[in-house]
Amino acid sequence: MAEESFGCQYFEHLAEYAVAVCKECRHGVLPSYIESHLQRIHRIKQKQARQVANSVGEWPSLIEYASELAVPSRAISPVR
Ligand SMILES: [Zn+2]
Repeated sequence: MAEESFGCQYFEHLAEYAVAVCKECRHGVLPSYIESHLQRIHRIKQKQARQVANSVGEWPSLIEYASELAVPSRAISPVR
């Protein structure tokens, strides 16, 4: 297997929304959150989580910031 397939083991490239979708829990995860997502939610070791994050980070045209996400974010309401 080539190195760039690390990301494909855990994530699916949803080109329509420009996000990576976790194959385990079907959540869209931003590239900057992939490492912590894998570690916290799926108990993946940090070294491997980073390799996956690096791999997914190289996928073309993924959005980087939550503000660009096209999915509704109203489920999370600010604490006031
Ligand atoms: Zn997940």
